[in-house]
Amino acid sequence: MATTEVTKSYDLYIDGEWRPSASGETFQSLDPATAEPWYEVARGGPEDVDRAVRAARAAFEDPAWAGLTNTARGALLRRLGDLIAESGETLARTETHDNGKLLREMRGQLAVLPEYLYYFAGMADKTLGDVIPALRREILNYTLREPLGVVGAISPWNSPLLLTVMKLAPALAAGNTIVIKPSEHTSASILELMGLVERAGFPAGVVNVVTGFGAEVGSALVEHPLVAKIAFTGGTETGRRIAEAAGRRLIPVTLELGGKSPNIVFPDADTASAALGIVAGIFAAGGQTCVAGSRIFLHRDIYDDVLARVIDRAQRIRIGNPLQADTELGPLALAEQLAKVERYVEAGVQDGAKIALGGHRAGEPGWFYEPTVLTDVTNDMRVAREEVFGPLAAVIPFTDEDEVIAQANDSSYGLAAGVWTRDLARAHRVAGRLDAGTVWVNTYRSMSPMSPLGGFKESGIGKENGFSVMDAYTREKSVWINTSDEPTPDPFVMR
Ligand code: NAD
Repeated sequence: MATTEVTKSYDLYIDGEWRPSASGETFQSLDPATAEPWYEVARGGPEDVDRAVRAARAAFEDPAWAGLTNTARGALLRRLGDLIAESGETLARTETHDNGKLLREMRGQLAVLPEYLYYFAGMADKTLGDVIPALRREILNYTLREPLGVVGAISPWNSPLLLTVMKLAPALAAGNTIVIKPSEHTSASILELMGLVERAGFPAGVVNVVTGFGAEVGSALVEHPLVAKIAFTGGTETGRRIAEAAGRRLIPVTLELGGKSPNIVFPDADTASAALGIVAGIFAAGGQTCVAGSRIFLHRDIYDDVLARVIDRAQRIRIGNPLQADTELGPLALAEQLAKVERYVEAGVQDGAKIALGGHRAGEPGWFYEPTVLTDVTNDMRVAREEVFGPLAAVIPFTDEDEVIAQANDSSYGLAAGVWTRDLARAHRVAGRLDAGTVWVNTYRSMSPMSPLGGFKESGIGKENGFSVMDAYTREKSVWINTSDEPTPDPFVMR
């Protein structure tokens, strides 16, 4: 396993400067592959949030940013995309140390990350208002799409760079400024990104980062009177608290929350592909993705075949140091996450499920856990209802389409779903009936900056990515112009 030592320390990034927190306090971040600290980071608090938000608000009004043409803003985003492409390896390694994600997966993520900047760079001068037909000929009525002001972006630990860039790129494309609050477990890659933000030429104060804990930094950001919108990715309970606070302040909020996504295999599926899709859906990134396909519905006719294939591939997954090129499963990102997976495996067994594969820790001192498959699961068990966020597949048999759709939709979540079938009519029919923000047919975990991502029900509010996301980062103003030369009539004389 990898060994690490504390080699770095990071300050807060506020108004284009690196500075310690107001309290002077710091905290350490642990490498999940070794369970040892590897860097120190400033412990921000409300005073730091206040400084960052004020800097962002001043930058929002400063002609250095507010005076740029939309095209010039787009050019800055494109430059940032180029710099990320150049620094991909450093950013990928940083995040692997931070959350244990495989280096090979991070390299893949960094290869597409610039595309998010390029896509929204293009959006900067293609976000248009409308000209509205009016009831009176002399009236010209049009709409303006204006930036909101300071956006507060709060991200989780499982994919900090990607999930932050999904907020930063449209926010800046629209002309907002931003204060980012990374997860307390994974601050490093976002702080490394700030060096690139600076080199790209963004004016000071346009992008700021305040590191620290949710209760100290996150809630101060949501409550700050100068924050105009919150973009949040994280757990459902945190999302609920943030929505309540945003509701009190009457500011818009976008929430990307948890999931318990069904991955459904029909009897007409290509079972070899379906089995690999299931393995990828739940064991890639150790199941620590919001869209993890954690409820596996197998039709009884192909149940044994697909289960045997899943187990065969899952038991050959190479567990180890996430920095090594041939590793297929790294550690869980947090010690709490490891304990949580253990608790859910126990809960599954207590509720009547059987362990068909795995069910143990897989090596010390890091937080490793075996790919685990539970069978004899029913949709009412805790392992089928609650998000585990680990390498734990809950397998449920079914007999017909209506039954499986009812079970798949019987969840408080509605983030994503997978469908495996070679029947074209069934593919469209089932995609239409599933209560999920994303449905993948004969594929799983596909994503792009062009496609809206976001959940239904307790999986969230609003979308990230895609054209319409620009609506969430702008406000619409309706302007009425009287083009007539006629004098204004007396308002009390009926015409
Ligand atoms: P979390 O909710 O614990 O924390 C997320 C962020 O919110 C962190 O930065 C945290 O410090 C901050 N926070 C905590 N309390 C806060 C408060 N009171 N006010 C403001 N901010 C606060 O989530 P996590 O454990 O970091 O991430 C895992 C969760 O994220 C999972 O539930 C997962 O499904 C979800 N997730 C969703 C998506 C998606 O796109 N839908 C993507 C990735 C992860």
